[in-house]
Amino acid sequence: MSLLERTPGAPQAWQGDFPVSNRYTFGLAGERFFRTIKDEARILGTRCPKCDRVYVPATAFCERCLSPLDEWVEVGNRGEVFSFTLLYVNYDGAPRQDPEIVAFIKLGDGGLVHRLAEITPEEVAIGIPVEAVFKPAAERSGSILDIAHFRPVKPG
Ligand SMILES: [Zn+2]
Repeated sequence: MSLLERTPGAPQAWQGDFPVSNRYTFGLAGERFFRTIKDEARILGTRCPKCDRVYVPATAFCERCLSPLDEWVEVGNRGEVFSFTLLYVNYDGAPRQDPEIVAFIKLGDGGLVHRLAEITPEEVAIGIPVEAVFKPAAERSGSILDIAHFRPVKPG
C-alpha cells in the first residue's frame, strides 16, 4: 500500500518499532555529581564565580562564559516545582487510572526533571517546595533514579 492509498475508517499512521538504547558518558562533572548522590545522598552543583550561577546538574564548564568550573557547592535536597505535567498514559501506551506527576524541580540555577509523589495532582502547583527522597543506600546504582522521587516539604 502506498502513502496515497487509504483504508476508509482506518487511522493513518506511520507504523514502526523503534528500539533505542544509548550510552551517555557522565564526564568529569557528571561522575562526581552522580557518585555523590549514590554514596552520600547529596546533590551538588558547580558554581561559576564570574557569572554567579550554580549549575545543577553539575557541569565542567560554564555555558555562558565557558570558564572551567571547579567550585563545587551543595545545593541541598530541597527545591521548588518550576513546571510539571500529569501523565495519563504509561510508557507502553496503557491508560493510567491515577496520573503520574513529572516535574522540573528547580535546584540552584538549574534543576532536575523527576517524579513527584506523596502528593495529589490537585495539590501540585508551581513554586511549591519539594525535597528529594533517596532510595536506600544499598539500592543506589549511580543514576538519577537513586532519587526515588521528590515530595512536598511538610510544613514545620
Ligand atoms: Zn560563567
